[in-house]
Amino acid sequence: PYEGPAAAEILRKRAEFLSPSLFHFYKNPLNIVEGKMQYLYDENGRRYLDAFAGIATVCCGHCHPEVIEAITDQTKRLQHSTVVYLNHVITDFAEALASKMPGNLKVVFFTNSGTEANELAMMIARLYTGCHDVISLRNSYHGNAAGTMGATAQSNWKFNIIQSGVHHAQNPDPYRGIFGSDGEKYARDVEEIIDFGTSGHVAGFISEAIQGVGGIVELAPGYLPAVYKSIRKAGGLCIADEVQSGFARPGSHFWGFEAHGVVPDIVTMAKGIGNGIPLGAVVTTREIANVLTRRSYFNTFGGNPVCTAAGLAVLRVLEREKLQENAFVVGNYLKNRLKHLQEKHSIIGDVRGRGLMLGVELVTDRELKTPAKTEILHVMEQMKEMGVLVGKGGYYGNVFRITPPLCFTKEDSDFFVDVMDTALAKL
Ligand code: PMP
Repeated sequence: PYEGPAAAEILRKRAEFLSPSLFHFYKNPLNIVEGKMQYLYDENGRRYLDAFAGIATVCCGHCHPEVIEAITDQTKRLQHSTVVYLNHVITDFAEALASKMPGNLKVVFFTNSGTEANELAMMIARLYTGCHDVISLRNSYHGNAAGTMGATAQSNWKFNIIQSGVHHAQNPDPYRGIFGSDGEKYARDVEEIIDFGTSGHVAGFISEAIQGVGGIVELAPGYLPAVYKSIRKAGGLCIADEVQSGFARPGSHFWGFEAHGVVPDIVTMAKGIGNGIPLGAVVTTREIANVLTRRSYFNTFGGNPVCTAAGLAVLRVLEREKLQENAFVVGNYLKNRLKHLQEKHSIIGDVRGRGLMLGVELVTDRELKTPAKTEILHVMEQMKEMGVLVGKGGYYGNVFRITPPLCFTKEDSDFFVDVMDTALAKL
């Protein structure tokens, strides 16, 4: 049994010693002391089904034994920076990662986070093209350092930073966007930004395939192929931010962009790739990567052997436990059940997403799509009481984000939907 400090004590210390900007979802935030596959346990030993996985940060299950073993084994052997000596773990993981990428995307830079990966990707695009302008999507989230905060386009997550050449295009959001599901119409906005907002030449375009923080928005079909074409015509590079939507989670594909039939010039990733260990990566082509030889470039902890050992173990587990297939089968099953729930509860305005990256948007009026901001908090609270943890997001904070560990089962899905059903009925 847990013998550490209780939630109240931790809250008190948090208020005194930690960032005042930290937030939590529940009236009484949970003190989570243990994790095991798709379950989390609080200080009283109460078990919760985890349908959020720390914002998709855990991909093969909390404390997966094989990943733990890889981390502890490597920690005993060597913890080190990767900068000046050789070590095979980093090259083995780079090779394994490259084998999961299409085309000439074979050169890997390691970082410690998604923010760092996107900062590096945007810098590479700017160096390679000699241009500064970057186009990103409204409602996107790309990180919280100066450059990535500029690319992020939700006021909730932005301070008064210098935008630094980022233009924000119309979001190809099939539910709330101005052109519905017509991807090509939204793509024309990018052409107009290039024509009327830049010199006609741009550094690049960055987007998620499924917006995570933005509330599980899957980009309208036809959008990415059209935009990639315009960006390349303007000399720019296309960056896919796969921090949330990548690594087997989409089920139908390993990467989110693959569902749109495009091949990016740069792919960034983090979160799930280390199953909870800080690890991020940028993958690009040899030709593009060569721009970083103009100066020395390194990242002290990026790709250190402990993190890359975790990454290698994650790839092994994904393969052996067929977790991409599981994301596909269980994700379809869960989405189907959620669609049925939508027929029953008029507050569910939309059910969307792919694989085990699903969204349920709550609205008080289906016609007006009025965000059900307070209602969602009630439902979340009730679900927690019944032993289910789920995330939320979207600009209005009214979208359930369902991003469980990829070992989630059909039985878990049934339990999840039944609990959501009961909580919605209580509203
Ligand atoms: N890109 C996306 C799509 C993300 O969701 C996030 C984090 N929510 C980031 C980048 C930034 O990653 P990190 O928090 O690891 O810096």
